[in-house]
Amino acid sequence: MLFQDLNLIDPILESLKKEGYTNPTPIQEQSIPSILKGKDLLGCAQTGTGKTAAFAIPMLQLLHEKHLNTKSKRGIKALVLTPTRELAIQIEESFVAYGRNLNLKHLVIFGGVGQQAQTDALKRGVDILVATPGRLLDLINQGFINLKDIEFFVLDEADRMLDMGFIHDVKKVISKLPVKRQTLFFSATMPAEIQKLADSILNNPIKVEV
Ligand code: AMP
Repeated sequence: MLFQDLNLIDPILESLKKEGYTNPTPIQEQSIPSILKGKDLLGCAQTGTGKTAAFAIPMLQLLHEKHLNTKSKRGIKALVLTPTRELAIQIEESFVAYGRNLNLKHLVIFGGVGQQAQTDALKRGVDILVATPGRLLDLINQGFINLKDIEFFVLDEADRMLDMGFIHDVKKVISKLPVKRQTLFFSATMPAEIQKLADSILNNPIKVEV
């Protein structure tokens, strides 16, 4: 299969060409069509499978199509929660690469660095926010971030969130999200607590295992 067969818009196909990608990986092939249809997804996949592009590409496309003509003030429309700073930076780089021909604003925030640059960028407007849980909650509590306009929520590496002791923070973030949203849930393994969380936040998801 080729990326051209996945109903992707030209600006995205162009950016994939620029990356040198021709064929979707199995998780991309299985996930992209369902995400484009608005379905929730439970993905059992490790890093290295192409899972970042599997969620980033259809999210960019749906947000682009939906907000092409909106002039209203920009609220944050998509949230990607990931456990580590390194993963957060990699995910942001994917949005930069695949979204280079689109007019969507993305930002990555994480702890361990000053917050001024992050809050300045938030004030300028953000469509897609990539975040680690601690800094996200911190900025929510200070009033710099409001999640009421979120349409897409991605939970990345859910099992590592549990291992690293972030699951309570993750649940706190989820409690602040609108109920009406599309949720994409990724985990390499499915321990009972993670399965329970997935069951409680996903709405009739398609399941993809690679
Ligand atoms: P990930 O599993 O999301 O961390 O991606 C693993 C690596 O595969 C990243 O370096 C991507 O740039 C690369 N990649 C993702 N999708 C494709 C693709 N369809 N073709 C070639 N490389 C890809």
